[in-house]
Amino acid sequence: MKVLTRGTVTVDVEQCKGCDMCIPACPPGVLSMSREVNGRGYRFPILHPGCTGCQACQQICPDWVFEVFRYEEPIELEVPES
Ligand code: SF4
Ligand code: SF4
Repeated sequence: MKVLTRGTVTVDVEQCKGCDMCIPACPPGVLSMSREVNGRGYRFPILHPGCTGCQACQQICPDWVFEVFRYEEPIELEVPES
């Protein structure tokens, strides 16, 4: 299955304190928490295809973990069948 994707984010993994606030804040629901932990022992968000570049994650994160980029043209990303 292919998902239209309008943006992407970088995640500063070591800055994350695992508060989970970004997960429900993402309108298309394309963030989930990792199973792995960072150097401080916290899980961190992972991005899946379908980001809109809306910046909601960046705005809600108290620790400036995200940087958001919007593509000039949407791209299609393949999502593994579950
Ligand atoms: S920019 Fe918007 S759509 Fe993309 S991960 Fe952040 S909250 Fe989700
Ligand atoms: S809101 Fe920020 S600090 Fe909290 S889990 Fe998400 S990235 Fe980590």
